[in-house]
This record gives sequence, structure tokens and C-alpha cells, in this order.
Amino acid sequence: MRAGYHALFIPGPTNLPERLRTAMFVPSEDQRSPDFPKLTVPLFNDIKRIFKMSSGHVFLYPGSGTGGWEAALTNTLSPGDKVLTSVFGQFSHLWADMCRRHGLNLDAIEVPWGEGVPVETYAERLAADKNHEIKAVLVCHNETATGVTSDVAAVRKALDAAGHPAMLMVDGVSSIASIDFRMDEWGVDICVSGTQKGFMLPTGLSIVAASDRAIGETTRAKLPRTYFSFEDMLKLNKDGYFPYTPATPLLHGLRASIDLLEEEGLENVFARHHRIAEGVRKAVDAWGLKLCAREPKWHSDTVSAILVPEGFDAGKVVSHAYHRYGLSLGAGLSKVAGKVFRIGHLGWMNELMIMQALAGVEMTMRDLGMQVEAGVGVAAAEEHYRRSAAGASSTR
Ligand code: PLP
Repeated sequence: MRAGYHALFIPGPTNLPERLRTAMFVPSEDQRSPDFPKLTVPLFNDIKRIFKMSSGHVFLYPGSGTGGWEAALTNTLSPGDKVLTSVFGQFSHLWADMCRRHGLNLDAIEVPWGEGVPVETYAERLAADKNHEIKAVLVCHNETATGVTSDVAAVRKALDAAGHPAMLMVDGVSSIASIDFRMDEWGVDICVSGTQKGFMLPTGLSIVAASDRAIGETTRAKLPRTYFSFEDMLKLNKDGYFPYTPATPLLHGLRASIDLLEEEGLENVFARHHRIAEGVRKAVDAWGLKLCAREPKWHSDTVSAILVPEGFDAGKVVSHAYHRYGLSLGAGLSKVAGKVFRIGHLGWMNELMIMQALAGVEMTMRDLGMQVEAGVGVAAAEEHYRRSAAGASSTR
């Protein structure tokens, strides 16, 4: 056994703050008791602030992000409905694949991995769709496989410019509570997330924020749904209950997570993620390596996918770091398997924690014979953090 904490730098599940861990350490509860709504009703309201939404509803299903995708599609669409999306990584691919498997008529624009949502192509497709056959436009806000963040606001602008009524659906699984997101301002109809990334909790809840418009679409939508039915959920949620047994400890965890995020201040949370990510990017530069994200406008503040030089296997970086140093990194998925390794820098994270990952990556790369000078990445990040540190002390 290795002494000390395992260094967890995968892009979810993220590190669990002690305060959230203890918040979930509750006895089993009666989920039909008169007291239960005291937990749930404020939770349904308060979580809206994390999505920056003032109306609609946030559905909390026992499940994961993938279940949230399914809830979004099945509650609002009918077989054969046209859906516009783009594929530029494993997660945007999987959501598109789910659309196909539900019998939707998919227009999936293939984009090189390392870029994000092609807003201009979306704008052209929307302008050309005079009969408004496209019912939903999908955006993967943060593609976790490549470390690419897309511009949701620009997609909203494209929809408005075309005067197009399609719903805007966002995968926010690795962005919500870490990267700025504005449900109301950007006119988003559904945003899907999960507990195990920015919310700093274990996996176990699909979090689906839906606008009033999206909820209204359930009367038209004919895709089959039972477990994920908005209607069933709303009937009971309005009084603080669920149509099936809720994951009560996770609801307590989510309560504590929202409190923690709001104590720090959402804008400070976003600034912290940006500061930490910038330090990682400085280290990558100093190592003489490149990110999978092809341009700064795509840079993700929650995960960095780092390309290894030709002839090296990125999978070896991941396995060596794990076995030799007790450091978990994200592996390259699908098209970028063996080409990238990923550092997750989201959730319960600070400058000194990420320095641990950078040191471990640097040692690993040198062990594997990559041409990296000892300490250069760590030094570059160190200088960035010294200059930009928030100076806040943590007592948690
Ligand atoms: N979307 C994105 C962007 C993700 O990163 C993930 C998982 O990492 C998912 C969707 C799928 O979520 P889950 O694994 O919670 O089902």
C-alpha cells in the first residue's frame, strides 16, 4: 500500500471535499415523510442559481450525465425529428449516437478533434432551414475528451439571427459549476450535467436544467419515456417528492455543494478554474508540448488534453504515472487514444494541488525518455501562480 492520498487528476469524478463527504454521511431517511420537502424544495430552487436560470425546473434523477442526455431528448422530441449537432470528441460523438439510436433524424457535422462547435456552419444550416424542420440544436459546451470549450452564446446568436425556433440543448457535464454558463441569458432550453465534476460529488445524479419551453414540449414529444419522464417527476417534485426512491445522501451532498460554491462565489469559482488552467497551459508550453485544443479560443478551463510527441504512446504516460507515482490522469479516448493524456483540473482544486499533478507528469515523462528538462513545467506554472494567486486561505 502507498502512504498518503492518491493524486486524482482525472476530469471526473473529481476530488471530494471533506465537507461534502460528511454532508452525505446521513442515516437512511423516509423519503415520503412530511419533513423531506424541507431538504428538496429549497434544493430545486437554489440549484437554479448555479445554472443562472430564473424559471423552468432542474430535474435530479438517480443516474449519470448519460441519463441526462436521454432525459433531454426523450422529453422534448419525437421519432424522425431533425436534430443539428457536431462531433469533435468522444462525448459529442456519444450524444449524437444516442440521437440516432432514438430514431432522430441527425445532421451531425464532423469537426476535427481539437476544435469545437462550428458556429458558422450551424448558422448556415439554420438559415437554410426555412421550414424549421430542425427541432433541436445540440452543443457540447466542454468536450472532455479533447479539452475544448465551445461558445454557447454564439450558437444562441446564430439561432436568433436566423429567426429559428429550434430548442438549444447543451451538454454541460464538465462545465457547469466550473466554467461560466448562463441558461437565461443564452436562451438555453436544456442543460445536462452530473454530480461528479464541478459539483465535486460522487457520480449518481443526472442534473437536467429545463426551461419552461422545454417542459412545454413534453405535450408534443412522442419519444417513449418512463423513468426519465419530466411529467412524472414534476407531479411529485412540486411538493418536494419523487416518483421513485431518490438518492437521498447525494441530495444532501448537493445541498452542501451549492452552499460551498456560493460561499466562494460562482464568479470566483470560474476565476479559480481559469487561473489553475492557465498555469497548466504554461507548463505544457514549457515542456515544448501542444494541447489537443488547436487555438486559445477552444482552451478548456476544466481539462487539458496534451498531445505527446510522435513515436510516444500517451497511454504509457497514464499507466506509468499511476503505477509509479499514484497519480491518476485521464487517458486519450477513441480517435485520440495513445495520442493524448489528460489532466483534469476542475472541482475541489487549488494551485498547490495541481502542482502535484504537474510534478508527477514531468517525472513520468522524463522516466519514459521524453526530452523534458527537470522542473521547467513546474517552474512555469509556479511563476504564473505566484503572480496570480487569489491569496484566499482555505479553512475547509
Ligand atoms: N458529457 C461529457 C462532456 C462528459 O465528460 C461525460 C463524462 O465524462 C458525459 C457526457 C457522460 O457522463 P456520465 O459518464 O456521467 O454518464
